[in-house]
Amino acid sequence: MSCDSVFYPLEQATSGVQGLHPYLPGKPVSELQRELGLSHIVKLASNENPLGPSDAVLNALQGACAELSRYPDGSCFELKQALSQFLDVLPTQLTVGNGSNDVLNLIARAFLAPDDEAVFSEYAFAVYPIATQAVGAKGVVAPAKQWGHDLTAMAEAITARTKVVFLANPNNPTGTQFDRVTFCAFMDKVPAHVIVVLDEAYGEYLAACDGDYPDGLTYLDTYANLIVCRTFSKAYGLAALRVGYAVSHPEVADVLNRVRSPFNVNSFAQAAAIAALNDQSYIEQTVKLNRAGLVQVIDALQQAGLDYIPSNANFVAVDFGVNAADIHQAFLREGVILRPLAPYNMPSFLRVSIGLEQENAVFIKALNSAAIRALQ
Ligand SMILES: *Cc1c(COP(=O)(O)O)cnc(C)c1O
Repeated sequence: MSCDSVFYPLEQATSGVQGLHPYLPGKPVSELQRELGLSHIVKLASNENPLGPSDAVLNALQGACAELSRYPDGSCFELKQALSQFLDVLPTQLTVGNGSNDVLNLIARAFLAPDDEAVFSEYAFAVYPIATQAVGAKGVVAPAKQWGHDLTAMAEAITARTKVVFLANPNNPTGTQFDRVTFCAFMDKVPAHVIVVLDEAYGEYLAACDGDYPDGLTYLDTYANLIVCRTFSKAYGLAALRVGYAVSHPEVADVLNRVRSPFNVNSFAQAAAIAALNDQSYIEQTVKLNRAGLVQVIDALQQAGLDYIPSNANFVAVDFGVNAADIHQAFLREGVILRPLAPYNMPSFLRVSIGLEQENAVFIKALNSAAIRALQ
């Protein structure tokens, strides 16, 4: 191609890709440091575990260094053994991914052809439309009910073209959740050939509450079309390493394995995930810290007279009642990184992740600062 010939890459992209916007991650601490020269920054924008990595994980990573020049185990044998024991499922039911994001993409690539439809909810996790449209399929958005999944509306959105339904429980960014009866009533309505993805990225946090929620694993025997997705990125604190997994019927796992990139999970991620799984005291500490942090943050929101969506996860979506873009910027100037929800069509909301007690306190101090109060 000569330099003066005209080339419009976006026009060459598939129509599904043309209709996408890139996923907007939480702003990294280093970026805000560069931009504003702040020294004390609190990142409460990506639902990460504020405890940082455990010693058990750090030791496992050191051990993995010796094998750096080797390809990882492409079958994740040891990690699957560990997961199989921990979850009481067969290794053949497991698909491990480079983050559960990878697993969501595998599902889209394996089951969605152009012109097929995938159903997800309004305000659902942003990766579902990306995974769907990237393979040329059509995303069908079911209207939400009180910011959460309306499983009745989602069942009604299923057509003869629907191949996949994505559910997140709890959903990110809203924190909304559904109960067992609602889930089973939905599953009973879904045609047997439609894959239902139950994304339990925050399952460890739900499990620590008294609430009524469906533990996806207990339904795999009843519903052969169910895929449960979980991750080591959130409660397990391994976001940087990228490791997540699906649990499904072995024949579904076999299909996903056919489109998986070889060596999609690196050896550090595999070693760390095994160590993390064996360190359940870290999870106990994590969920305990989160419960206390949720109380701390929600008390402050109530005192400030702000609306928020109730959440058992490690984040809360806060409604500032006005377009929150300026409020988001004001928080950044206070050294607090939050997640704006304008990309989710929730422009008056900011999502705050639950951090350490002192990090939450920095958020609360900023929330009550004159600069931010003036913007509400
Ligand atoms: C964070 C998150 C994921 C997990 O992403 P990873 O790729 O495993 O880091 C999946 N689903 C939802 C709803 C999430 O919020």
